[in-house]
Amino acid sequence: MTPFSFIRSTSAEEAGTLAAQNGHRLLGGGTNLVDLMRKGVEQPTTLVDVTALSTDITETVKGGLLIGAAARNSAVAAHPIVRARFPMLSRAILAGASAQIRNMATVAGNLMQRTRCAYFNDPAASRCNKRLPGSGCDAAGGFHRYHAVLGASPSCSATHPSDMCVALAALDARVHLAGEAGTRVVPLVEFHLLPGDRPDLETVLKAGEVITAIEIPPSAAGRRSTYRKVRDRASYAFALVSVAAGLSMRDGVIEDVRLAFGGVAAKPWRALVAEAALRGGDASPAAFAAALDAELADAKPLAGNAFKIDLLRRTAGAVLSGLNGDMR
Ligand code: SF4
Repeated sequence: MTPFSFIRSTSAEEAGTLAAQNGHRLLGGGTNLVDLMRKGVEQPTTLVDVTALSTDITETVKGGLLIGAAARNSAVAAHPIVRARFPMLSRAILAGASAQIRNMATVAGNLMQRTRCAYFNDPAASRCNKRLPGSGCDAAGGFHRYHAVLGASPSCSATHPSDMCVALAALDARVHLAGEAGTRVVPLVEFHLLPGDRPDLETVLKAGEVITAIEIPPSAAGRRSTYRKVRDRASYAFALVSVAAGLSMRDGVIEDVRLAFGGVAAKPWRALVAEAALRGGDASPAAFAAALDAELADAKPLAGNAFKIDLLRRTAGAVLSGLNGDMR
């Protein structure tokens, strides 16, 4: 590992100023960044510890939640309001990594984690447009079982590895940012970027900006919600596909539905086409299937991951039918 300096920041303003300096990287729990440093993917000159940022999880006046950037993933998953009002979020977090990693990992770090594409993580022997723009993509003709089927480009088909972000996308979460130009709030579904021809650009975060909190608004669909992750082994594995879903019914009609997918795109994939097709209609298996077909009509697999499309369709249909069954 390349030698580096270590600084503890005491405020978001100080962290932002330091983060803007060349070679500086923000360090939360370190559960992804330190791995990348060991592999030589990241070679910062200075790590800026941001664990002094807020760890508070507080109820908003409207019944939502404000989660501090440095809150640990395990604390969020176990919080009584998360478990009662946003169960999909608790289940998504508990589906990720291991208990030890969840105890270390922070909420902001979860948003900022990098893809687990094997070629991205192999700087010694692999070409990767995300790591080195213009160098090529060895995943295109290589092992891409875990790669994207939605929103990918010829430059990159990597997926975002987070489970937590999939639930946050479905819950209309908002990301609070602070920087030298002031503060701003960005919908989580707009925070991560699709690759296009610049897969090295992964978020809308500007130089010197830091994440200070995640806000989740209240929702009826959030209360009746769940998360299902399909993976190659039962624990400590990234998603082949995952589904965060919530359902709210009134008089036999879908009043609100939330649906987001993980493991299939460079960002948590909010299924807005399917949601629009379902809202105001009946909650039948046929309606779920038609909505999912519409959502996945533009899916474009690579040679080795076409199975994901049907796996996702069947997983999402089963999750929605399960939620509807619970409500009868
Ligand atoms: Fe790199 Fe993306 Fe290709 Fe993986 S899929 S090797 S991250 S460019």
